Amino acid sequence: MTQEIHNCIIIGSGPAGYTAAIYAARASMKPLLFTGKEPGGQLMITNDVENYPGYPDGIMGPEMMADFRKQAERFGTDIKMEMIESVSFDGDVHTVVSETGDEYKSHSVIISTGASAKWLGLESETRLMNQGVSACAVCDGFFFRGKDVIVVGGGDTAAEEATFLTKMCSHVHLLVRRDEMRASKIMQERVLNNDKLTVHWNSSTLEVLGETEVEGARIKNTVTGEESTIASSAFFVAIGHKPNTGMFKDYLKMDDHGYLITHPDSTHTDIGGVYVCGDAQDSKYRQAVTAAGTGCMAALDAERYLTEQGII
Ligand code: NDP
Repeated sequence: MTQEIHNCIIIGSGPAGYTAAIYAARASMKPLLFTGKEPGGQLMITNDVENYPGYPDGIMGPEMMADFRKQAERFGTDIKMEMIESVSFDGDVHTVVSETGDEYKSHSVIISTGASAKWLGLESETRLMNQGVSACAVCDGFFFRGKDVIVVGGGDTAAEEATFLTKMCSHVHLLVRRDEMRASKIMQERVLNNDKLTVHWNSSTLEVLGETEVEGARIKNTVTGEESTIASSAFFVAIGHKPNTGMFKDYLKMDDHGYLITHPDSTHTDIGGVYVCGDAQDSKYRQAVTAAGTGCMAALDAERYLTEQGII
C-alpha cells in the first residue's frame, strides 16, 4: 500500500501552530498537527492573559489555548497528541517521525515548536510558579504595578524586562550573578541610569521566599559569601530562552542561540515547502500575538507553495 502524502504537517501547538492550522484548514489543506509533549505551549503555564486582543476581560492561558484548538478543529485540522522526534527534509516530500516511530510524509511542513524559558532550577521557584514567579515581564508585570519586584539575569532580556518593569513597579531589583552584565552597552546604560532600579552584583539566588505567593528572595554574594534577603512581590527569571529546534540542525540554518533563520519578511527557509513561525524563529518579540501572526504567514506561504507546485 502506498503511504499517504499529506499537504501540510504542523509541528507544535502554541499560538503559532494553531493559527497556522486554522488558516491551512480553511484553505482546504487538511493539515495534520502534532501537539508535542506540552500541548498549548508556553501559555499553558501562564495564568491571566490580558494583552491578547479580543479578550477585553483577559483570559486564562490554558483556556485561550483550548479556544485556539477548538477553532483549528472546527475547520478540519487533524490533531495528534504526539511528539515529533526527527525529520528528514531530503527530497521533495518531507518526512517526520513521531515518538511512536510512525513516519508521516507531507509536501509542506510548518515548524512551530516554540521556545522554553530557562529556569534557575530551585524548588521554591517551581512551587511559586504563577504565584509571582514568571519568565515574562511583558505578560505579568502589570499584575505587580506599584510593588517591588526582582529580576534575575544580566543579558539583554533581563535589562529590557527590568527597564520595562520600572514603568509600573515601585522598585526593581536586578540580580546579576557576576560583576558585569552581558547586555549591550546601551541597555546597560538604561539600567544603570534608572533610579527605580538597583543592581545587585555578584548575586545568586538561594531561595524564592513565600508560602503561597512570592514575598522576596534569599540571595548570596558570591564574592563575600554574605547572605541577605530582598522583599518583593514578584520574581522574574530572565536568563534566556531555549528554542526547541535541535531536531532541525542538519537541515536548517540557525543563529548562535539555536533560533531558526527565515528569509526576510516571510517564514521561508532554504528548503522548499518548509516554513518556520513563532518563537522557534523569534528571539525578539516572543508574544502570543506575534507568534499567531507568523503562524498565519506560514500557512499562507505553504498554501502558495502547494498551489505553485500544482498540489492543491
Ligand atoms: P543571554 O544568554 O544573552 O543572557 C543570559 C543572562 O542570564 C546572562 O547574563 C547570564 O549570566 C545570566 N544567567 C544564565 N544562567 C543564570 C543562572 N543560572 N543564574 C543567574 N544568571 C544566569 O540571554 P538573553 O535572553 O538575555 O538574550 C538572548 C539573545 O537575545 C541575545 O543575543 C540578546 O542580545 C537578544 N536580545 C535582544 C534584545 C533586543 O535587542 N532588544 C532583547 C532581548 C534579547 P552570565 O553573563 O554570567 O552568563
